[in-house]
Amino acid sequence: MVNIGKICNNCNCELKKYDKVYRTIRVKGGVKMKVKIQRYQCPKCKHIYRELPEDLYPHKQYESEIIDGVVEGLIDSSTLGFEDYPCEMTMKRWRKEHEESEDE
Ligand SMILES: [Zn+2]
Repeated sequence: MVNIGKICNNCNCELKKYDKVYRTIRVKGGVKMKVKIQRYQCPKCKHIYRELPEDLYPHKQYESEIIDGVVEGLIDSSTLGFEDYPCEMTMKRWRKEHEESEDE
C-alpha cells in the first residue's frame, strides 16, 4: 500500500493534520468503545475531513457488520446473538438508505 497523502476533493490540495476527535461506537453485546478519528483540513478551502476507521460508517452508531447484516436481510429483530440489535425503525432507515443509494 502506497501512502500518497490525503487530497481535498474540492481543490486537490494536500490536507494537513488538524486535530483528533473521539467517537463512541456500539459493538456487539451493547459494549461501547471509543475510536480515535484523525481530522484533516484543506489549507486552501478550509474544509475539514475525517479519517474514519475502515469498519466504521460515518454518523452510524453501530458496527458496519451489523448494518450490512440488516441491509442484506441477514439480521432482524429475531436474530440470535444480537441482543442489542438496532430498533426496527433504525433498521428500516438503513434499508431505505441502501435502496436509495443503489438507485443513483
Ligand atoms: Zn480544499
